[in-house]
Amino acid sequence: MYPAELQPAAIGSAEISDQTEYPVMEHFYTIQGEGAHSGRAAYFIRTAGCDVQCWWCDVKDSWDESKHPRMKTGQLAELAKDSGAPFAVITGGEPLLHDLLPLTKSLKARGLEIHIETSGSSPLSGILDWITLSPKRFKKPLDEVYPYVDELKVVVLTNKDLIWAEENAAKCPEGTRLLLQPEWDTPKSMPLIVEYVKKNPQWGISLQTHKFLNVP
Ligand code: SF4
Repeated sequence: MYPAELQPAAIGSAEISDQTEYPVMEHFYTIQGEGAHSGRAAYFIRTAGCDVQCWWCDVKDSWDESKHPRMKTGQLAELAKDSGAPFAVITGGEPLLHDLLPLTKSLKARGLEIHIETSGSSPLSGILDWITLSPKRFKKPLDEVYPYVDELKVVVLTNKDLIWAEENAAKCPEGTRLLLQPEWDTPKSMPLIVEYVKKNPQWGISLQTHKFLNVP
């Protein structure tokens, strides 16, 4: 959680926040498919722009923000509210490339909880109720992000990723949900993950259930 108290004092009114624009690749009402909130209805907002550029990324179209339209936060927040979703998931791309305060303020003003999925490689911003950190070895999370992590979700392809997962877990607060996730196109890692979780039950497994269910 990254609470409102940590935000700059002069953040302006919700009306001003509503006019801020972000590059948005897509936004839609769906089911959260991964992690601790898997199976819950959520409004996804995928901001465009990513400087992490994982080779196995399944949303490479999100990397170049200039390819995507800009949307006002007020419009996005109204659509999220009208969908009936209890919470919004801000994802990317790398959403923390943008100052998320205006967007999160507009969503909060309409009663939504706010979750984020991030690599943690850019500074935290915005009012965030649930932070899922998905750390990447080639662009590491900033140390300042770890104290606020609620869920650590590490994509595992090889043993090296398990070592990386433990290095990150050691920096997260006690009580953080610890999850290992196979990469969709390389399910070979699944036996590795299963054996690891049996030996280290503080970890759990996250599956991309939306892909099994064929929902976006
Ligand atoms: S951080 Fe996310 S969006 Fe960026 S390249 Fe990696 S998987 Fe893709």
